[in-house]
Amino acid sequence: MTPVRTRFAPSPTGYLHLGGLRTMLFGWLLARHTGGVFCYRIEDTDRTRRVPDAIRSMLDDFEWSHFDVDEGPTAEELHEAGYGWEGAKGFHPSRVSSIQSLRLPRYKEVAEQLVASGQAYRCDCSPERLDAERQAQQARGETAGYDGHCRTRDVSPDVPHVIRFHIPAGTKVVFNDAIRGEVIWDPVILKDAVIMKTDGYPTYHLCSLVDDHDTETTHVLRGEEWLPSAPLHMLIYKALGWTPPVIAHLPVIIGKDGRKLSKRHGATFVKNFREDGYLPDALLNYLLLNGWSAGGGDEQEVMTREEMIARFTLEQVHAAPATFSYEKLAWMNGLYMRSTPDEQLTTLIMPFLLQAGLPAEESQVRRMIPYIRERMTNTLKDAIPLVEFLFVETPALGPQQAADLKLAPGDARRILETAVAAIRPLESFDPADVERALHNLPETSGASKKAAFMTVRVAVTGRKVTPPLFECMSVLGKARAINRFDRSVEALTAS
Ligand code: GLU
Repeated sequence: MTPVRTRFAPSPTGYLHLGGLRTMLFGWLLARHTGGVFCYRIEDTDRTRRVPDAIRSMLDDFEWSHFDVDEGPTAEELHEAGYGWEGAKGFHPSRVSSIQSLRLPRYKEVAEQLVASGQAYRCDCSPERLDAERQAQQARGETAGYDGHCRTRDVSPDVPHVIRFHIPAGTKVVFNDAIRGEVIWDPVILKDAVIMKTDGYPTYHLCSLVDDHDTETTHVLRGEEWLPSAPLHMLIYKALGWTPPVIAHLPVIIGKDGRKLSKRHGATFVKNFREDGYLPDALLNYLLLNGWSAGGGDEQEVMTREEMIARFTLEQVHAAPATFSYEKLAWMNGLYMRSTPDEQLTTLIMPFLLQAGLPAEESQVRRMIPYIRERMTNTLKDAIPLVEFLFVETPALGPQQAADLKLAPGDARRILETAVAAIRPLESFDPADVERALHNLPETSGASKKAAFMTVRVAVTGRKVTPPLFECMSVLGKARAINRFDRSVEALTAS
């Protein structure tokens, strides 16, 4: 197996979304599968669309998802390009800087080389002229695009201008997409694209290709939306005499309605999933199934990263759109949460409890884990209502709550008084001790089993549905449990 060099090259024009994370995952898996190198670079030459905190948020996403990036922007480069912050870590440097705005002279050099060889030219057409031409093309029913007006003009480098790539007439562009197979493009619909803008910044088409060449990238994995740009890139590679890398366009991710996944369907930014209590491994595992399958009758869906790495190949990536299901992701997240060891699950849950405003105490949460684990079905936030009773004073069970349980206040009071009497003498308050003490509560309080234990449950936790009652009481502790019973007895007596 030949080690590959892959790269993930997002633009900081927005937060990292699911499609981007999947591109990153597939590129990373391919690199790891072949023992190759995975690089990250920042494509920031579109200065008008930069989102200020996009890079920081993306790096947080990387950290959260535990991706090991082999080469990428160093901390110094992040600072130099204006994206740094105190404590920014950065990565091992690549062969060239991984931030495009730091490489402008190199792109200029390549653009000038193309101009000198007659394969690109300067163009100073005004926006008005371009507009008028576009409208005329539309009226004639032609593909809109630059008409080549400046190809034969000699535009001075001293006037504001762009540099356009001259699409050679006639030849069909044929290339092999690693996922789609042979792609054939008629150059008639390709127009002389801008490769260098008036502000001296290159467009994506030029700098992405120069970077892939300079970093010896062997495999370019990117979203399907870039497929129409690929023929242009092939022509530029040819003009420069460079060998193009293997190119693979990943299938679009769609919602259940068949439309491209967007806000309409639900969260699409990785940071949303991070904040909503998904585990990175569950999200990545599920994203792997969005566009890839092992094939050969192998239906294993839940995989460790090692298993993903061992099995991933580009050949098993589909061209057909991948349908994203939020329900299936939640299901998979449930599986991952429930199989996370106690200690680690506690650590994962804690921030969500604190964020919900609960003065949560780690050791108590840790004790609850065995009792709440199976009740965590979707996200880490499921833990909040399950342990909340430990960290907030629950409302006393008064006449209204008693009525809700179809009990007269006096009956509810008798149940609670009997319960207090039974647990007060206990020296040890383990779940088994509590259970033993309350075992005969229905008989001693003269209530049905259901009424007796539901009353105790509501008095202790403020809820009717909770983790196992004796375990909840044990973690809460004897003094606090008795206090809750006493407060309820008082509320019931006052009525
Ligand atoms: N900067 C492009 C993007 O954000 C990357 C395309 C590519 O990977 O070539 O989608």
